[in-house]
Amino acid sequence: EAKRPGRSHITFFRELASDEDSRLLRLEFALRHALTNEELSIVYQPQVAVNTGEVHGAEALLRWNHPELGPISPAEFIPIAERSGLIHEIGMWVIENACQQLRTWHHLGHANLRLAVNASIDQFYDAEFYERLERAIQVSGIDPESLVIEVTESIAANADTVVEQLQRLKSLGVSIALDDFGTGYSSLQYLRSFPVDYLKIDRSFTSGLGSNDTDHNLVATVIDLARSFGLYTIAEGVETGEQLRILHELGAPLAQGFHISRPISPDEFGVWIDQYSA
Ligand code: C2E
Ligand code: MG
Ligand code: MG
Ligand code: MG
Repeated sequence: EAKRPGRSHITFFRELASDEDSRLLRLEFALRHALTNEELSIVYQPQVAVNTGEVHGAEALLRWNHPELGPISPAEFIPIAERSGLIHEIGMWVIENACQQLRTWHHLGHANLRLAVNASIDQFYDAEFYERLERAIQVSGIDPESLVIEVTESIAANADTVVEQLQRLKSLGVSIALDDFGTGYSSLQYLRSFPVDYLKIDRSFTSGLGSNDTDHNLVATVIDLARSFGLYTIAEGVETGEQLRILHELGAPLAQGFHISRPISPDEFGVWIDQYSA
């Protein structure tokens, strides 16, 4: 009798694990068809200059609306895309679309707008990536500098080989942002050797501004550090006017977050930028 609760405990975890596995399998299978079924879309989150309020650009963020399961978070499906290799096809689709969108905005008169696109490290080790990226830039006719490729700070785990890939990327003329800065392998050494243009301060630090002294000091330090390296900082996840005010005080150049705007559709972006600029 005493064994009973133990056994049901094990059964419980087995069922839990298999539920998770089957969701993963289901998502991976569905993701294979998500592109052709037009279930993927891109939303754009504005980035603004803290000092002047000027619109700097936007970050392209992928969305997946599964016909039965509804919206699936990129935090869930990007790792699946990476593990299955689908990230190459999906990642290129995002870049090609984003370049077209940027050209449209440039033609509408927002000539200085920049667009940031997230990329997974796997894409950097794919020779086709550079060719297709170059073609996407040529076809859209955008100035390559106005395209920013965001890579997470975790690329530093591959520091030995990744510098070469980053240089290859830079040689196409694009800009590079180090995403989620502060959460991973931050080291002065990497900052010195990586040819990056922007540091994005992770939301987990921005959210402590005004309430947590350690976060406050960390953000201040990163802003100064970036400046001394000739990099721009973008504070991510700015949710309150108070956070934006402190960033202004600290001399942060750029900010992005729900307080400025949530990620929005291209149509909504057009409306937002006109209202915001007015
Ligand atoms: P990320 O690049 O660090 O993007 C920022 C995330 O924070 C986005 O979540 C955005 O919606 C969210 N965010 C922005 N402002 C705020 C705020 O003020 N408060 C809060 N609570 N959240 C905010 P999202 O769109 O769910 O994306 C999650 C992650 O998925 C991204 O993190 C990025 O790493 C990845 N991702 C998204 N699109 C792509 C893509 O096209 N390719 C790749 N490889 N990864 C992508
Ligand atoms: Mg990003
Ligand atoms: Mg980030
Ligand atoms: Mg993030």
